[in-house]
Amino acid sequence: MKKFETIAIRSEMDKSQNREHSAPLYLTSSFTFDDAEQMRSTFADEIEGNVYSRFTNPNATEFENKMCLLEGAEAAFATASGMSAIFASFMALLKSGDHILAASSIFGSTHTVLSKFLPKWGIEHTYADINKPETWEALIQKNTKMIFVETPSNPGLDIIDLDWLGTLANKHNIILNVDNCFATPFIQRPIEFGAHLVTHSATKYIDGQGRVLGGVVLGKKELIKEIQTFCRSTGPSISPFNAWVLSKSLETLAIRMERHSQSALKLAGLLENHPEILQVRYPFLLSHPQFEIAKKQMSMGGGIVSFEIKGGINQGRKFLDALQMCSLTANLGDTRTIVTHPASTTHSKLTEEERIAVGITPGLVRISVGLENIIDIVADIEQAIKKSTEI
Ligand SMILES: *Cc1c(COP(=O)(O)O)cnc(C)c1O
Repeated sequence: MKKFETIAIRSEMDKSQNREHSAPLYLTSSFTFDDAEQMRSTFADEIEGNVYSRFTNPNATEFENKMCLLEGAEAAFATASGMSAIFASFMALLKSGDHILAASSIFGSTHTVLSKFLPKWGIEHTYADINKPETWEALIQKNTKMIFVETPSNPGLDIIDLDWLGTLANKHNIILNVDNCFATPFIQRPIEFGAHLVTHSATKYIDGQGRVLGGVVLGKKELIKEIQTFCRSTGPSISPFNAWVLSKSLETLAIRMERHSQSALKLAGLLENHPEILQVRYPFLLSHPQFEIAKKQMSMGGGIVSFEIKGGINQGRKFLDALQMCSLTANLGDTRTIVTHPASTTHSKLTEEERIAVGITPGLVRISVGLENIIDIVADIEQAIKKSTEI
């Protein structure tokens, strides 16, 4: 078995007659057949072949195949966004009367799906505290069909022990669904710890350059088959162009994640010793409450650092306004360093109480450390902190 970087670069689709070196883009909504019999048998799934790009497209297939190899998954389906991957994994596998046990610290839109939409179809959920794993087993109900977690979580960077959770899920015969967006398969492979499904917002580190939306759900063949049927019928399929971009992006994922992690660790260490900063969170800082678990299941810390500025919301705002280079935007995992204020952006749909419960304090700042030279990143952040203390 070849190494991660080699697979990401070398496992491409078969060459066409043009012998291109780089996989071409298949911008076509449908595919033709030689004769009626070929058309019939392809439609009937008796032989493999592309029919229509809502079902399959060579670019989507290439992206899915690569992701399977990198995550160690049996099958995958690529979607138009991370949220459509997550939503499809719920809708295809759960039915009215089922229950999801979810970590309380999850992405804002996932929270909205669980709390506002799934109950309309009779799918209920309970939130479990990621920092109190000892409470989880008691929260499992007879009708609990899925456990859903993010680790590390967005934006609090909470970490849950995947080995322990995989064992718990398998003991109770529950599907373990892990949003692996922050770590990417280069840093963490949840299936190795017993997860049955892995979901991704490919928009983030997998693209890595802030260009396209995309998502993918991976896992056991029989589960993906259901999700595939759901998606092929309801239409959240990925566009060929986005799949092509994402498949190319995978070629540089390893080297990008290494640099993101190296720079983020450096920045986190500096912020931790800064007199104006309270509570820095980074998975590979000794002070992280789940540092030992992070070391066990992640090969490096990833590119996200979060921290609380001393003066709360007011100083936080001044800090954001004083930044000269770092971008103020909602994305993450970009080449450009991005600073966000989760309470007023990604998690603004939650109530203040819900935010506090998941660790999003008013002064929490999240930094997605980019690939600019770390000296310039640190300089911009330090000058902005300094300005935030001036009246
Ligand atoms: C961004 C994000 C999502 C949603 O992905 P989209 O591609 O924006 O739909 C889901 N989970 C996490 C952890 C995210 O950061």
